[in-house]
Amino acid sequence: MRFSELAEVMEKLEEITGRIEMTNILVKLFLETPPEIIDKVIYLLQGKLAPEYKGIELGIAEKMLIRSLSLSSGVPAKRLEELYKKYGDMGDVAYKIISSRRAATLLAFMGKTEEELSVEEVYNTLMKVAKATGPDSQSVKIRLIAGLFNKASPLEAKYLARIILGALRLGVADMTILDALAIAFAKTKDARPIVERAYNLTSDLGEIARIIAEKGVSALKEVRIQVGRPVRPMLAERLPTPEEILRKLGGVCAAEYKYDGERIQAHKKGDHVVLFSRKLEEISGHYPDAIEIVRRHVLAKEAIVEAEGVAVDPDTGEMLPFQELMHRRRKYGVKEAMEKYPVTLFFFDVLYVDGVDMTLKPYPERRAMLEKIIRVGDRARLATQKIVKSVEELEEFFELAISEGCEGLVCKSLSGNAIYQAGVRGFLWIKFKRSYQSKMIEPIDVVIVGAFHGRGRRAGTYGGLLVAVYDKEADMFRTVCKVGSGFKDDDLAKLPKMLEPYRIPHKHPRVDSKMEADVWFVPHFVIEIIGDEITVSPIHTAAMGRIKPGAGLAIRFPRFTGKYREDKGPEDATTVEELVEMYKAQLKKIG
Ligand code: ATP
Repeated sequence: MRFSELAEVMEKLEEITGRIEMTNILVKLFLETPPEIIDKVIYLLQGKLAPEYKGIELGIAEKMLIRSLSLSSGVPAKRLEELYKKYGDMGDVAYKIISSRRAATLLAFMGKTEEELSVEEVYNTLMKVAKATGPDSQSVKIRLIAGLFNKASPLEAKYLARIILGALRLGVADMTILDALAIAFAKTKDARPIVERAYNLTSDLGEIARIIAEKGVSALKEVRIQVGRPVRPMLAERLPTPEEILRKLGGVCAAEYKYDGERIQAHKKGDHVVLFSRKLEEISGHYPDAIEIVRRHVLAKEAIVEAEGVAVDPDTGEMLPFQELMHRRRKYGVKEAMEKYPVTLFFFDVLYVDGVDMTLKPYPERRAMLEKIIRVGDRARLATQKIVKSVEELEEFFELAISEGCEGLVCKSLSGNAIYQAGVRGFLWIKFKRSYQSKMIEPIDVVIVGAFHGRGRRAGTYGGLLVAVYDKEADMFRTVCKVGSGFKDDDLAKLPKMLEPYRIPHKHPRVDSKMEADVWFVPHFVIEIIGDEITVSPIHTAAMGRIKPGAGLAIRFPRFTGKYREDKGPEDATTVEELVEMYKAQLKKIG
């Protein structure tokens, strides 16, 4: 397959403004792609070479790309830097440079056809770039990339440059790809759950795509859970009162402390342990201390277990808030963070043990297995649990959880069909979080989709961000408010730089907004906000028409809580459904 075909699709995806159009373009592309390279096409479309968990990164900075482009075109690096300053996008620079080179070569070799780039060649070369190590790896990388530019057309060069720098900005989400795969190869929407289940177990879109394209949808049923491959996490729904929670769970449940830390999925094979985040990135490097805990305290040869990692103050034994652990995401913060606030693991589930897939067993069986394989110690604990049968018991246990520094409770179904629903937010787990003083019962997680320029004290940064919740049904982001309060000077200083890689010239096709932002972004960053209440609003598009015709739901007096949810992807933000439920709960509370 020619790389130019993929570059043209990328160009189209960048221009369109509708979500359905996006799916249609992908369906057509997938049907035209030879099945044996569909995985590569999908990774490249998402600006990657492999699924996140494999940790394969190109690691190319602008400087190095400029050197490659200079080597290929003969244009001095200094001139390229000037152009980069002028355009602000290496893709546009590459387009321009290769266009002028083309014009010159055409004059010199009239009639001679040039060699074409194939998708395989691009992919394989980029893989070599990612894997090059050793003292002269820099020059090897530069030469490999220059080789690609030598053969590229202007359009190909534009997208090559963006892929290499990790600045593709197309925002083609996993869910959109799953939809397109089901439509292209199963011809029916009914196949979507099968495709999704396979994805939930393997977390590798490329592999799923190859199986369905080569062998058909029935082959996806054979996909199994495997140690070393992250499983997409099971998630909790929320209900506002203990009465509703107990009713929903049949009058009895396992109430567990909801620890406020980072979710860690640990995969153990003998002495080898790998850790994955809630977003399925490999985070072993952030938690050498957690690896040691899993090695010593998980008594199974092979296992996949889940725990909440919580930073604990070694002097007081107190649990510290979630943000403490985010230091571990900074390259040089791990060692220091580990010494200052070592992590304690609170194990709460088991997905696999020595050849047995536990995800299909009911929760009580999983918890019994967890109790069997975890050797409890100071820093390896089981989530505190109580089987509760009454509202009073549930309330009392909730108070206890809060007083011990937890966020609230996760109430889990004890029924025979309470399996581990990978990748699903359902009512087998229901969270019950602490109430805040505002009428709004709890903070929400929102996605940054746009921004407004600041003035006065905020000149040079943003005066406000346009934020949205996730409409799962339509796979769209719908706005809920403009938020400008709660940002400290540090936050304001870093926002433009943090958001720059996601800036696009128009509203993203998956964003639904009536407001015109000054700047638009690919939905990517999740932050936590709280407001005074949820109100009906004609300008915001979340839950449009659900409560009142022609109006959506909005957050009144929103403020940033200080929590950047780096552990969440945009599809993990609060959903429209949750917002509607919160609005209804708020009405009940007032009434
Ligand atoms: P939140 O923003 O409330 O943490 P979330 O979207 O990350 O929500 P949910 O599934 O809604 O995830 O809530 C459960 C989360 O709470 C889990 O992802 C996990 O990180 C954390 N947690 C803490 N203690 C437990 C526990 N005992 N059982 C399950 N999850 C727990």
